[in-house]
Amino acid sequence: MTDPDVIVVGAGPTGLMLATELAMRGITCRVLEQRAHESNLTRAFGVHARTLELLDMRDLAGPLLDQGIKVEEIRPTFGPTSIRLSMRHPESRYPFVLIVPQARTEALLAEHARDLGVEIVRGATVTGVRQDGSVTIEGPGGRRTERAQFVIGCDGAHSQVRQSLGVGFSGATYSTNILLADLRLADPDERAVRTFVGRDGVVLMPPFGDGWVRAVVWDRRRENVPLDEPLGIEEVGESLSRLAGRDLGVREMRWSTRFRSERRQADAYRKGRVFLAGDAAHIHSPLGALGMNTGLQDAMNLGWKLAAPCRATRRPGYWTPTKASATRSEHRRCASPTCSSASAWPPPRYGPSGPSSPEECSPYPRSTPRCVGASLACPLPTRPATRTTLTRGRAAASPTPA
Ligand SMILES: Cc1cc2nc3c(=O)[nH]c(=O)nc-3n(C[C@H](O)[C@H](O)[C@H](O)COP(=O)(O)OP(=O)(O)OC[C@H]3O[C@@H](n4cnc5c(N)ncnc54)[C@H](O)[C@@H]3O)c2cc1C
Repeated sequence: MTDPDVIVVGAGPTGLMLATELAMRGITCRVLEQRAHESNLTRAFGVHARTLELLDMRDLAGPLLDQGIKVEEIRPTFGPTSIRLSMRHPESRYPFVLIVPQARTEALLAEHARDLGVEIVRGATVTGVRQDGSVTIEGPGGRRTERAQFVIGCDGAHSQVRQSLGVGFSGATYSTNILLADLRLADPDERAVRTFVGRDGVVLMPPFGDGWVRAVVWDRRRENVPLDEPLGIEEVGESLSRLAGRDLGVREMRWSTRFRSERRQADAYRKGRVFLAGDAAHIHSPLGALGMNTGLQDAMNLGWKLAAPCRATRRPGYWTPTKASATRSEHRRCASPTCSSASAWPPPRYGPSGPSSPEECSPYPRSTPRCVGASLACPLPTRPATRTTLTRGRAAASPTPA
């Protein structure tokens, strides 16, 4: 087996996107994934306008749009008062939030990666990584060490890569739980994210478009129930009716969990030949649906920059480390405000089980300018755009059809 230019650890959305960004520039890439099968888990469900614009540059927005539903407004209800928040960003050609299960986004990216020649090895658990680019792996078929010019840890919040490097993950755990459940309601609203804000907490309900909705519930009365206590349909139904102020008609539940959010950021995004991206580098509350979006944008940013030194190792004297090193400060600068704004909910509690002060709770400077996780140092097309058509190992540019 020949050494690839890059080993990506983790076939989540970040790892798959990064692998395709490298492969389309002719960089050989191997993705190591501990799961034996593709995921059917839905964590992320919201894809924002900026991410769709980036996916469109790779001809991937269309296929994803076909599988999701476009939500053009959010309707928060405060007791008897209901308001409408428009998501129709006039400046984007995707003036909505796309609701699509994370598993479908991952499946699309995996197919695209394979088309570009990326090798995805499933059942391969990375147990250690060194700064020189060597990786120890368990399975499939035993234990071994592999090498690459660069290694990228896209292995999620509990990143083994980050731990192997000894990089800290500064931040805090919220002191309260939220409830998550996939439900069928008597009267689902398929076009809007329904939101209820009451004295006891907040409910957010994005629709999946197939009759199911995801309920994200912060219920002050249930926030300290132990995480391992089963969450049944009666408890979810009771919380929803109390917070919404009316019976929402819960008919069926296919999945539920109690979830405790964290907000953390890696102390370094790069050590030697090893980088971190996506949840391995930053996590925050699911409110705002920013996590996967930020990871995909990390991947776009790191991909084109890392391609340069990878090529340079084949042409001695060509490479200077400036671009890939710049990524560290850029994607940290981008992730920080995302983490800060997403951390606004649920409001943290300070005290014995949580951080003692807001400063301790947030690793991000309070003065950080606000932005959505969309600012990104990546060359973007101006309208009329050039669409990039991808073929195995090379990219060909053609004008975008009107
Ligand atoms: C309830 C909830 C709702 C959310 N909703 C949204 C949303 O609407 N929009 C949004 O943008 N984000 C959302 N997020 C966040 C989003 O799910 C994550 O940010 C996203 O999955 C991160 O992608 P990733 O590829 O960086 O990491 P992951 O998706 O965690 O993928 C990491 C991969 O690495 C693999 N792996 C781990 N360790 C190893 C190892 N040692 N060796 C090999 N492989 C390994 C894992 O099996 C996994 O496949 C939500 C999160 C939660 C919990």
